[in-house]
Parts: sequence; structure tokens; C-alpha cells
Amino acid sequence: MMGDAYALQLQAAADFIREHDDFLVVSHMQPDGDAAGSTFAVAFMLQSLGKRYTLMNEGPMPEKFMYMAGPNTIINHEMNPPERKFGRVISVDCADYARIGNVNECFEDEVLILNIDHHATNDLFGHANLVRSDAAATVEVLYDLSVELGISFTPELNICIYSGLLTDTGGFRYSNTSPKVLQIAADMLTRGVRGYELAERLLEKMTYGQVSLLKKGLNTLSFAYNKRVAWLSVTINDLADTDASSEDMDGLVNYARNVEGVEVGILFKEKQSGVIKVSLRSGGQADVAAIAKRFGGGGHIKAAGCTVHGSMEEAITRVVEEVGLALS
Ligand code: 5GP
Ligand code: MN
Repeated sequence: MMGDAYALQLQAAADFIREHDDFLVVSHMQPDGDAAGSTFAVAFMLQSLGKRYTLMNEGPMPEKFMYMAGPNTIINHEMNPPERKFGRVISVDCADYARIGNVNECFEDEVLILNIDHHATNDLFGHANLVRSDAAATVEVLYDLSVELGISFTPELNICIYSGLLTDTGGFRYSNTSPKVLQIAADMLTRGVRGYELAERLLEKMTYGQVSLLKKGLNTLSFAYNKRVAWLSVTINDLADTDASSEDMDGLVNYARNVEGVEVGILFKEKQSGVIKVSLRSGGQADVAAIAKRFGGGGHIKAAGCTVHGSMEEAITRVVEEVGLALS
């Protein structure tokens, strides 16, 4: 993105935070490491500015990310919808307004939203928008914003930033691993972050549920279009059988994508009967964000997602066909 436009966005975002108080901080539904890291990073940033804030997500924050929370609590809107409403919202890692989910039920009519994100498909739904699509993670944008605001990099904030970078770059491996990513990561290590501990926690360790689910998932591995498309599927019954949680499905899609010759790997996760969450990963030949958008989703060129309504078989047929068209 052009430096000048981004510098102006940074100033506007800093002004938004300086001029207001009592913020609601929200990330996308089913938060990943970057969404979680960004939520807690903003909390620590607001804390050091002496601002009041409330953290919320549409559903539960996965336990595996709670080491980043420090003394903060995060409200599960589904379980504890708040009595009050909020007029100042900071949205992190949400490509569009719908990703905020039902949390928007506690927005005032006259709400002002600061939209901080890194998705190329971001539709700039905020009243102020801080979006840098060449950033590997939203925490990378928050690093810039912390510098802009003159916030000191405390150990808690650093852990959030490093965790978001680590997860959204797949352990500093994906093509979004820019020199800037590694410079920020190096800065975080210099400031005392124990990168190897976070890597083990976030990337290496598997829960028992995860391995059991992997066994089932690999049984469904299927191919089409000369083995250039591969997919796995996981049903609600699989989850129940293996005692796995919804987050245990994270990463399964890589087993489809990583097969030699595969251009697009797909994971179909049954969320409830008739609701299939689709994760798409591309080697670069197909723009999976464009494919996901056709089903009402979005994301990045090489990693995107959407939700398809219908049976597992219908979802597979429809999405695989679109992917095949994109590759032809
Ligand atoms: P995942 O497959 O890991 O859920 O998501 C991959 C990428 O696509 C992430 O950057 C995520 O934010 C984005 N993404 C996943 N699902 C959706 C969706 O339903 N809508 C939009 N706009 N983006 C999504
Ligand atoms: Mn992200």
C-alpha cells in the first residue's frame, strides 16, 4: 500500500483512540491466533493510554489463546449478552462487518467503528479504517499503531504481537513472511519474548482430540482435476466421536494443500446440520479469496473461507466445481 495513504490512516486511527474512551474491542467469530492476539494487544494498548475498554467475541475465546489475556476477561456474547450498548468500537482482523457476528447487537445506533485489519478483501466498513493488505497479520498493523501512539512495548503486548505474527505466517513460512515481519519478530525477541515457547504452544503441540480427528479426516482425503484439488471433510459426528473441539480442526486443511501437485486444498467442516464452514488454501495459481467471495466469504489470495448452506455432499460438489473452474 502507498506509504502516504497508510501514514494518514495511522494518524486517523491514533486520533480516534486519543479522542474517545470506553471502547468495545471485537474480532471475528471463531477467532484464530491473530484475531486473539489483536484483541488482547488492543486491550494492553488502551490500558497503557488509560482508556476504558471491554473485550468481546461472538462466541468463546479458545482456551489455547487465553495465555495472552493477562488480567483481561473477554465476554462471550452468545453466553452473556451485555445489558449495555457501546458507541465506540475497535474491530480487529475482520474483513467485513458480518465477521463481527452478533456482537453488533450491542452497538449503539450512532456507533463509530475503527476498523483495523490486513485482509485484501476488507470493504472499509469502519468510520475510520486502518487496513494494510500487505501486512502479514493484524498485529503487524497494531505494531505500527503502537509506534504511532508512542505506546511502550510491554511484555504482555509483545507476546500478543509475536503470537499473531507466528500463527498468520504459519511459523514464519508463508509468502506473507516479509522482511518487516521478521524485523518486528526480531524486535519482539530482543525485548524478551520466548519465541520457541510460543511456537511449541501454538504450532507444535496437538491435543489428543486433534490427533484423533486427524486420523478421521485423512480417511476422507479426496482428489479431483488431476489431483490439483484435494479436500478433507469433518462432520459433527466425527467431533463427537473423537471428543475434539471445533478449534481442533484448525490446520487440517494443510494436509490437503500440502500434497505434491495440489493447487488448492479445501477443508469442509460441518458446524451444524446443513451449515458447512469451508477453508480454502491455494498454492498461488487460483485466487481462493475470489472463490470464497462467490459464496459470501472472503480472505486472502492464498487463504480464504466461507460458509455454505446445504448438505456436506452439496457443499463439496459446489465448492470443488468452482475451484475447478478457477484452475481451468
Ligand atoms: P480459515 O480458513 O482459517 O477460517 O480462514 C482463512 C482466511 O479467510 C482468514 O484470513 C479468514 O479471516 C478468512 N475467512 C475465513 N472465513 C471467512 C468468511 O466467512 N468471510 C470472510 N470475509 N473471510 C473469511
Ligand atoms: Mn489475521
